[in-house]
Amino acid sequence: MVLLDGKETSKKIQEELKEKVDQLKKEGKKIPHLAAIIVGDNGASLTYVNAKVKACEKVGFESTLIKLSESTTEEQLMKRVKSMNENPDIDGYIVQLPLPKHINETKITMAIDPAKDVDGFHPENVGRMALGMPCFLPATPAGIMELLKRYEVPTEGKHCVVIGRSHIVGSPMAMLMWRNELPGNATVTITHSRTQNLKELCLQADIIVAALGKAEFLTAEMVKEGAAIIDVGITRVEDTSKKSGYRLLGDVKFDEVAAKASFITPVPGGVGPMTIASLMINTLKAIEMKELI
Ligand code: NAD
Repeated sequence: MVLLDGKETSKKIQEELKEKVDQLKKEGKKIPHLAAIIVGDNGASLTYVNAKVKACEKVGFESTLIKLSESTTEEQLMKRVKSMNENPDIDGYIVQLPLPKHINETKITMAIDPAKDVDGFHPENVGRMALGMPCFLPATPAGIMELLKRYEVPTEGKHCVVIGRSHIVGSPMAMLMWRNELPGNATVTITHSRTQNLKELCLQADIIVAALGKAEFLTAEMVKEGAAIIDVGITRVEDTSKKSGYRLLGDVKFDEVAAKASFITPVPGGVGPMTIASLMINTLKAIEMKELI
């Protein structure tokens, strides 16, 4: 079994990006600038945003973090989004989701300039991805593809079962796995909460991407010997032995599934760090995207 080490791979990608930034500096070119807007004080969201900003600093990008209070109105947030679109110094930006209930997420996502949408959530980027045109790929699926590529996990002609059909993970993941390039060229089955024969489908899978958000859902009896397992899930469970008071569990019952798997991602240290690495890759790409979108 090969452990798909997202932490190490992400570190390597960040070193590569740092070299590129150093080169840009030497050539007197613009340094990529990522901005992040966060509304409210959701603990998990703050942790994610801080990790993204820290990663920017590490690779030498410029970064701006805008923290807005929970009571920010949709109109106020919309104004911020517009000023980000118009600011030539900002190459890419994200609006951290989820937003407070009184703000319409779709409206905000649609207002982001597709050429600065480094999260890849704008419908124009989703459509471009579907058509194989230049675009920003959503960070989590793109990070998984990068991991599959770097570890040379075979995908061509393989049967990939994706568990979960969300717009940010399951659906784009399926799309990237079936596209006509490598990694990709897999035969894909996408499953969801209404799927009736999930265990049978999983038992036929050469690759399983578990992205449903239910701790330790995928057990050894659902997995074929030699399958490659990608665990996207992150669930916080109380753990008084930890300083933070919690630990993270994936969607895969790691020990028993690892014993049957050819490749597997751990949680933490698998897909999570790759998501951040992809966002950095997208930010570097944002400089060229201005001409392409
Ligand atoms: P979501 O709640 O939007 O979607 C979950 C999907 O799972 C839905 O499509 C639903 O139909 C499906 N589902 C639910 N129960 C199911 C069942 N019993 N059988 C089959 N399908 C079922 O979640 P999401 O935003 O896609 O995130 C999924 C998980 O991935 C969460 O734990 C989230 O925290 C994690 N996540 C991790 C990263 C990362 O960087 N590692 C990034 C994004 C999301």
